[in-house]
Amino acid sequence: MTEITMNTAMYYAGKAIEGQGPTFEVINPATESVIVKCKAAITAQVNDAVLAAKKAFEQWQYTSDEQIRLSLDRIAQDIKAERSVLAELITLEQGKPLFLAEMEVDMALYWLEVTNQFEVPVLQHTDPMGKQMSIFHRPLGVIASITPWNWPFMIAIWHVIPALKTKNCVINKPSEFTPLSTIKLIEIIQRHVPAGVCNLVLGAGEVGAALSQHPEIEKVVFTGSTAVGKKILSAATDQLKHVVLELGGNDAAIVLQDVDVAETAQKIFMSAFLNAGQTCACIKRLYVHESILDQMVAALAKIADAQVLGNGRNTNTTLGPVQNRNQYLKVKNMIEDAVAQGAKIANQNLARVPEAGYFIAPLILTDVDEHSEIFAKEQFGPVLPVVSFRNIDEVIAQSNQSSYALGGSVWTQDMTQAHQIAAKMQTGTVWINSHADVSPFAEFGGWKQSGLGYAFGLDGLLMFTKKQAIQYAV
Ligand code: NAD
Repeated sequence: MTEITMNTAMYYAGKAIEGQGPTFEVINPATESVIVKCKAAITAQVNDAVLAAKKAFEQWQYTSDEQIRLSLDRIAQDIKAERSVLAELITLEQGKPLFLAEMEVDMALYWLEVTNQFEVPVLQHTDPMGKQMSIFHRPLGVIASITPWNWPFMIAIWHVIPALKTKNCVINKPSEFTPLSTIKLIEIIQRHVPAGVCNLVLGAGEVGAALSQHPEIEKVVFTGSTAVGKKILSAATDQLKHVVLELGGNDAAIVLQDVDVAETAQKIFMSAFLNAGQTCACIKRLYVHESILDQMVAALAKIADAQVLGNGRNTNTTLGPVQNRNQYLKVKNMIEDAVAQGAKIANQNLARVPEAGYFIAPLILTDVDEHSEIFAKEQFGPVLPVVSFRNIDEVIAQSNQSSYALGGSVWTQDMTQAHQIAAKMQTGTVWINSHADVSPFAEFGGWKQSGLGYAFGLDGLLMFTKKQAIQYAV
């Protein structure tokens, strides 16, 4: 029995097309029941989608800026009109509480609207010899977008809208775990762009590989794990494709002794357990000054224990499940392994865990071995290891030891010191007194193993273009 009936077709060449590959089930992580069954693309269908996009690009690249602005405005209006349907689909497939799914749609809309306001610049120069030149940002061609399961709708918007804004054609492949809100999104976009401009193929990793390795794909924009990102990069290198990789993180937060513990604990909890910890830039390691460690741990554990775990459709749910069984087992194993190595669970009265579904009660861990997986790798689940520090230079060095370098944060009332610490943190983003608080105006990208290239801001948008210099004498 499936939970809903909806169109589960792919879209390319302006048509809804059923996959000819294997059937896969989309599971509701809060109930473990099948929401709906979808069919994956076979390689010939991926090829057809790429060719349809290439054909559409012949015209779309010359569309006026005004027409693009209008199309994106109409897409925004339709998303607004279908906000509740979209949010319900997100909750159903991803598990997050409905209020958070609504926030995901709202944030996606905000990103769409900001991206639509950016102007793609044309730069004019005259050199000392009097030669004049104009530097244009041209569209790349056909872009492959591959998205993960944690914020499926918002991340699809982050990929697809800048691609369209800069006059590219695009083919998205959503995660096989959460394709439903993306199917709905592409269905909406179809109404406002010509056939072949925005396409969708469904399936697991092999469909993503076929798409990203296709010789007519000019750029791959990928959000997901570092392991898959590396595979995409090595295949792209051979064909000299443009690549933007938004990968995993192991973000550290450093809390100094001058903070208001109760207020900071609230904010830190929200940033570490956002979407049950399944956010690339969640706080994943917490360093607290030794003088306030016990107070901070007690405050965090109290907030964790007060959470209401459950189906995101229930209005009193504050924390949803882990999105899929593999991830659930991975997080469980990391916790067991950390405890076996001496970590202590600080919670007094664990939040109640529903019987069905991939739920894990939110945990605060202390006495964690810094080499244990839960500290050294990305847990991507509702558990936060906390360690103490005494010396600020030592803790900055420790936080920088990770091979990941997506985000980091510093928490203090002393803004001068905050900026000094921020400048020494080796991560793509540093927040002061907040975390995971991304903005469409600020370039966002991981350093080290957390990514390559940028999203957001004007530079993020221009990563969907190539420069052309036209030089002329007068
Ligand atoms: P994943 O890498 O397993 O899958 C991501 C996507 O890649 C899915 O659509 C999947 O089907 C596809 N895929 C798998 N193998 C492929 C291959 N060989 N070639 C092409 N595509 C392939 O990641 P996930 O488990 O869906 O997402 C969780 C990860 O994403 C976490 O590590 C998280 O930190 C990261 N993430 C990063 C950001 C960021 O902005 N840095 C944002 C969200 C999530």
